[in-house]
Order: sequence, then C-alpha cells, then structure tokens
Amino acid sequence: MIEARNLTKRYGDKTAVDDLSFSVKPGKVTGFLGPNGAGKSTTMRLLLGLDRPHGGDATIDGKHYRDLPQPLRVVGALLEAKAVHTGRSAYNHLLCLAQTQGIGKERVEEVLRLVGLHDVARKRAGGFSLGMGQRLGLAAALLGDPSVLILDEPVNGLDPEGIVWIRTLMKELAAEGRTVFVSSHLMNEMAVTAEHLIVIGRGRLVADCSTEEFIERSTDQTVLVRSPDAERLTEALAAEGGTVTRNGTGELIVANMEAARIAELAAAGGHVVHELTPRRGSLEEAFMELTRETLEYDAAKNKGGAA
Ligand code: ADP
Repeated sequence: MIEARNLTKRYGDKTAVDDLSFSVKPGKVTGFLGPNGAGKSTTMRLLLGLDRPHGGDATIDGKHYRDLPQPLRVVGALLEAKAVHTGRSAYNHLLCLAQTQGIGKERVEEVLRLVGLHDVARKRAGGFSLGMGQRLGLAAALLGDPSVLILDEPVNGLDPEGIVWIRTLMKELAAEGRTVFVSSHLMNEMAVTAEHLIVIGRGRLVADCSTEEFIERSTDQTVLVRSPDAERLTEALAAEGGTVTRNGTGELIVANMEAARIAELAAAGGHVVHELTPRRGSLEEAFMELTRETLEYDAAKNKGGAA
C-alpha cells in the first residue's frame, strides 16, 4: 500500500506537485497518468525518498521509505529509462545490488530468467539497448521480491513484443497480491494495463477511479443517425430526452439516448432510418481534454491571484 498525503514539491517558483493525496492498493495495477511535465516522476521520487517534499508526506506500507530496514525487499523501483553506464555484466550488476541487501545468487539467476536476459547475462550491460536496459532495471526492481513496485514509464524504449511482455508481467505481479504503481503519459497504454487510474495534471489530482469508470465518464457516447425523415425524428427523440444536433451533412448526432431506444422510437413513429451507429469519443482525446482543462483552470486562477 502506498499513501501520499498532501504532497507538495516546488522547483523555484514552479509547483511540480501540488497538494497531492492518493493511495495505491495491493492486488491490482494502478496507472499513474498525466501528460509530460504533470509531475509523475517527481511524485515517484518523493515516494522513494529521493527528494524531500515541501509539504505533505508519503509512506509505503505505513513507513517512510528511509525507515525501511531492507528497502529492496519492500519496494522495487524502476525510474526513468537511462542507459546503464557500466563495464559490468548484467549478472554482476545485479549481484552487487543483491549483496547490499543480503540477497542470494539464486535470486539473481531467477530475475534474469524472469525478464528474459538470461542468455545475455554475462555480456557488458553498458552495451545494452534501451529496451534491454529497461529489462535489466526491472530485474533490479524485482531482486528483493518486493510487495510494492513503482515503475516510471516502463514501456519507454520497448518494442511491441516487449510492451506486451511488460503488461503481462505487471498484471501477474499484481495478481500475486503486490501493489503495482506504474506511470505513463499514454492514455491508451494505461487503458489496457491498469485496473485503477490516478490521473494528474500540473501536479494536481484530476481523477482517482477505476479505469472502467474513467472511460465511461470521459468518453461521450453518441449515436449517429441518418434518416430521410430527420425533422420529425429529431422532434420525436427530443421529446423523449435525446439531445440531437445536426452535422454539416444532415446526419443527426444523438446524445443522452441509447441506439436501441432511438430505433424503438423511430419504429413507433414510423420514421425510416438508414443508419444507426453508436460512437465513442477517443479515449486519448478525452484525456487530453481533461488535463487541458486543469491547465486552463490553473492559468486563470494564477492570473486572478496576481491581479
Ligand atoms: P512527468 O514525470 O509527469 O513528466 P516531472 O515530475 O518530471 O513530470 O516534472 C514536473 C515539473 O517539474 C516539470 O515542469 C518539470 O520541468 C519540473 N521539474 C522536474 N524536476 C525538476 C528539477 N530537478 N528542477 C527543476 N524543475 C524540475
């Protein structure tokens, strides 16, 4: 369980994380979503005690990171993808880390197999591609068999096969009862990976709900209707609570009413219908819209404050 309470972090006069509170529960993948610059990495660094907050507090399983006696055994973290600058082999790199926490050689072998680096384990890690570097980072995060995983944009640098692999792995780790907290700036990626979402914009909480609920709430469902009897059909639908707008080509866009109900009303009134197509707005668009609103709200507020 991860808990953030009123976390605030400033860089100069820029507030990167602004009074942010949330909790991340075990047993599911929780996505930490926000556009680039929203404050995701900063928040993760605060959770891991790598930075000090100006306000608020973050705990993992009820303790501050710095108070964990063997942190690798409680929390595994993968921060920003970076090239590994080391002349050491992947195996030796992990072995050194393992030895600092009293973790045995067998576990090193085990995590190398788990992330698919077993065959290249004796090669110099400095020569790894970004994707292999991500796998090595993940191996390091998993070394202590931690109950909490904090992964910052783990999909970066991975090829399509690697992306599917990491999604599956995250879900498996969560299904084992671990807390899996993973950041991304890609809505569509999170929609297929995470069961729960914490969405931030400009350091502030925008949404904290199940992915299903987020999708339901954020994408408008409309129905496109083509009818030679558009005028009378519009009246019939509006009378029953449908919101009807006409687009440039004379088609009807109906909101607040399901396709089946529209078909029933059309049949009851004897209105011919040539097409009836349910449509969902793009999730990526909805997400951009949602976080853009936060930006505008903030900009307006800051302006008001200065006046
Ligand atoms: P995200 O991970 O969501 O892309 P970050 O947490 O990296 O966002 O950044 C949040 C904001 O804080 C950005 O505007 C970024 O420029 C700023 N920021 C992050 N780290 C620093 C730093 N070390 N010094 C100054 N500004 C920073």
